[in-house]
Amino acid sequence: MSLFSSVYRERNAEVRATLDSVRCPSPKRVEEILAHSESSAPLSLADLAELLQIGTTASADSDAQFDLLRAHTRRLWRAPSGNSLRYVSPIYVSSYCVDACPYCNFSARRLDTARYRLSLAELDREIASVLARDARVVELVYATDPEYDTDLLVRDVSRAVRAVENLQGGGVLLCTEYLSSHAYEALADAGLRGIVQWDETLDEQAYARWHSASPRKADFHTRMDNHDRALAAGLEVASGALFGLADFRYDALMQVARARYFAEAYGRSPFVMGTARLKPIGGRELHLETTVSDRAHETALMVYKLALPQVGRWLQTRETFEMNLRNLLDGDVFTYSCGDVQPGGYTQINTTSVAGAQFGVNELERDYVDRELATQGFHIDYGWISPAKARVLAVR
Ligand code: SF4
Repeated sequence: MSLFSSVYRERNAEVRATLDSVRCPSPKRVEEILAHSESSAPLSLADLAELLQIGTTASADSDAQFDLLRAHTRRLWRAPSGNSLRYVSPIYVSSYCVDACPYCNFSARRLDTARYRLSLAELDREIASVLARDARVVELVYATDPEYDTDLLVRDVSRAVRAVENLQGGGVLLCTEYLSSHAYEALADAGLRGIVQWDETLDEQAYARWHSASPRKADFHTRMDNHDRALAAGLEVASGALFGLADFRYDALMQVARARYFAEAYGRSPFVMGTARLKPIGGRELHLETTVSDRAHETALMVYKLALPQVGRWLQTRETFEMNLRNLLDGDVFTYSCGDVQPGGYTQINTTSVAGAQFGVNELERDYVDRELATQGFHIDYGWISPAKARVLAVR
């Protein structure tokens, strides 16, 4: 099996050297890069680094360059009508976690978080609830809960697969901490279609700063190859960084380098790029040294699209709807309701208070979202997974 860790040192050095010498491009240079992006050759990491530099300053000096990026991506991927967004319903199964990420309310160190683990009957009710709302693609979400070994994950996935397998465009995704090859093979056999996992950051020193207190997640190297294990087992992968843990330019470039590595090694790119950005949780400040401004975040979103034109981005409910409306492009993933990011959130099994939620989200009403999206030429596709196990989770 090919492993990203075998090329990590080389890619890391390339990205760091690129960022060492990069400068904010002039408007003329931005036009050159954008014109080149429409040729068959992909943009180089050096070109992308220049574009990312536009996000580092929110001033009149870079407004023209930012506007060029915005106009270009909208021209290519945002028609006046007919743009499609893929919907995923996350179903939280457990909020018990042995890890201690400071940015997450499920951290084992948060003693005041209300924990819950769904029973099988409760899981069935949550699945039925989201299907009744037209969702066809469900994502089972677990913290690092030691109760869930491979057998239990296979049991839950099999149950969800049975619920969606006859629904057009339906499928099951899984969000857990890193797993073994054996686990992914068993889950693929059970009908799982893909995994959702963010790398947090591929900056090893920054990763250690945020995760060294986490007994399982601290293992940067084993975790780094998690997507390889899933891809090798025949699963599709959602990849991405959690912006704000390190220099956002480094994270964006490393994610592009990694997605291109997946395409070379497995013939498959990620089916979506995650775009999560670190936020304070539950009134607790995180004392961020690497805060990512709106300008930086939106620039990174556009750079992902230019670097990986066939791959959508997953715009997050942690962001405001206004922010997402500004940035949505055809083929992106967008979810307006996440079950309050806690177990039992759809059927109110647990608590609806923020005391049980993983982080803060903007839960929205469907009618409102549909109306607002329609004004921008978007509609939501609830069943978008190809019927046959395909090499890529294609939009139908
Ligand atoms: S981010 Fe995941 S691993 Fe970290 S504390 Fe939260 S649930 Fe646990």
